[in-house]
Amino acid sequence: MNIIIERFNKIKSNISKINNSSDMKIIAISKTFPLEHIMPLIELGHNHFGENKVQEAETKWNKIKKEKNSLRLHMVGKLQSNKAKKAVEIFDYIHSLDSQKLADILSKSQDEINKSINYFIQVNIGNESQKAGIQYNEVDQFYTYCTKEKKMNIIGLMAIPPNDENTEKYFKSLSDLNSSLGLNELSMGMSSDYMKAINYKATYLRIGSAIFGERS
Ligand SMILES: *Cc1c(COP(=O)(O)O)cnc(C)c1O
Repeated sequence: MNIIIERFNKIKSNISKINNSSDMKIIAISKTFPLEHIMPLIELGHNHFGENKVQEAETKWNKIKKEKNSLRLHMVGKLQSNKAKKAVEIFDYIHSLDSQKLADILSKSQDEINKSINYFIQVNIGNESQKAGIQYNEVDQFYTYCTKEKKMNIIGLMAIPPNDENTEKYFKSLSDLNSSLGLNELSMGMSSDYMKAINYKATYLRIGSAIFGERS
């Protein structure tokens, strides 16, 4: 069997041991890998894939997305506002909504092409100066702005916790904030910590290297 399929199936079986619900989604993060490397998983019927750069996503996915309309593409990387319009064209989900300016451009761009995008608000859960995301105590206000003023379809929160031993603490506080807003989806958990994320109600796991191998 193809090694990618093998790894993917192992992850699925790990997940199903602790949560067997069908709303648990694996986003296969395929950044840096060429389409032929990803293809076995597409052929298996997997539909959710993630990228972190607009240009790379467009080059890689534009053609195949037109051929296979069950495919759903997720933007998980930092989104510059000058790329927002292009992002709306190629992506179905954006996990990196992190500023009012970006919200303004995205909502305008999606209306122009009449496309409905699902958004996650990125939260700077560890309050790190080098990381993107809305500050924890400003999420409530930003959520209201996006939903009420901009009519955006915010489905949940997203975070990349600090690389320290407190991962579960961050997962818990993100999960609590998500619940307090009444949101149903939650984007957290990567190759190294997805099993922990599930325990705190993650619904979209962003898994790259554990499926596709190490990135060079
Ligand atoms: C690359 C990336 C991932 C996947 O990371 P792995 O450790 O390879 O699973 C998840 N989320 C974001 C935002 C990423 O940029």
